[in-house]
Amino acid sequence: MKKHNFSAGPSILPREVLLKSSEAILDFNNSGLSLIEISHRSKDFVDVMEKARSLVLELLNLDGKGYKVLFLQGGASSQFLMVALNLLEKKAGYLNTGTWSDKAIKEAQLFGDIHEVASSKTSNYNHIPKGYKIASDYDYFHCTSNNTIYGTQIKKFPNSPVPMICDMSSDIFSRQLDFSKFDLIYAGAQKNMGPAGTTLVVVKESILGKVSRKIPSMMDYKLHSSKSSMFNTPPVFAVYTAMLTLEWIKNLGGIKAMEELNKKKEILMYSEIDLNPLFKGFSAKADRSAMNVTFSLVDDHLKETFDTMLKDAGIYGLNGHRSVGGYRASMYNALSIDSVKALVEVMSELESKN
Ligand SMILES: *Cc1c(COP(=O)(O)O)cnc(C)c1O
Repeated sequence: MKKHNFSAGPSILPREVLLKSSEAILDFNNSGLSLIEISHRSKDFVDVMEKARSLVLELLNLDGKGYKVLFLQGGASSQFLMVALNLLEKKAGYLNTGTWSDKAIKEAQLFGDIHEVASSKTSNYNHIPKGYKIASDYDYFHCTSNNTIYGTQIKKFPNSPVPMICDMSSDIFSRQLDFSKFDLIYAGAQKNMGPAGTTLVVVKESILGKVSRKIPSMMDYKLHSSKSSMFNTPPVFAVYTAMLTLEWIKNLGGIKAMEELNKKKEILMYSEIDLNPLFKGFSAKADRSAMNVTFSLVDDHLKETFDTMLKDAGIYGLNGHRSVGGYRASMYNALSIDSVKALVEVMSELESKN
């Protein structure tokens, strides 16, 4: 039975992407060789890297605007420290909206003075703080666009007087934004783009090379950029699969089409939570994430029944993160509206039985 995959990450990928990437494992471009056993300097792979990089700029509408695209390793978690190493001279401002922001702050504190411009920590990150100030003497301002664990999402980004850095791991390519507002965007691939193993970095070249410290090669954006993201062996399979996903997005009509589909899923899911008396949502309505929907049962006695019904309906990956509890429905780009319908059906069936 085909499962409805609501996993938060690693997470669902388009079926056709999985088919093509598994073919390439056995025979890449009819070469008689596997994608993962050829040189990353071969023309076939260099073409993949170049295509992936240019699709990113095209989809984000950043072509010709001074940005470079890198596919690095070490996860989004390594970006927490790379951002600080490359950009932090004295002090920076961070918006604390969840576990990932908090981790980014802790790493950056190793390299300079970090000001939390605002935090929703005391309310278990159930909303996005607003009305904060970004000082003009910060080296940069850092935020997390979508809080994967808590199910909140920044709907309106501030106008930052300093370079704006954003961790978009769990909502990149899911909605239309003016991406040129950001000077550096990073995203681990495994939420909305590909398999674990690569992290996308999109950086405006003009912000690099300004700190006085010496930066180790593997941590240096400028070096990776000057080598077209091929300074060392890139994670070839992850980059290839990400490229296929980017092509899939483009063929469906780009980010605009993703946003339209995601909007439909979001409305369906949150309407059920709001109208069904057995359930309640976790995050503040104005800040609800379109990607990760956090909710719980009003009466925990129904948990066993509900969990059995979910299992019978083939719904996978709905357990909430331990720091929130309850349930979390992750609805990344590749999740079809039919899967959301299947979940909503189970929720309303539970209501009619109780
Ligand atoms: C998953 C996630 C991370 C951590 O990603 P890794 O690739 O596991 O290091 C960071 N930020 C956000 C917003 C995430 O969702």
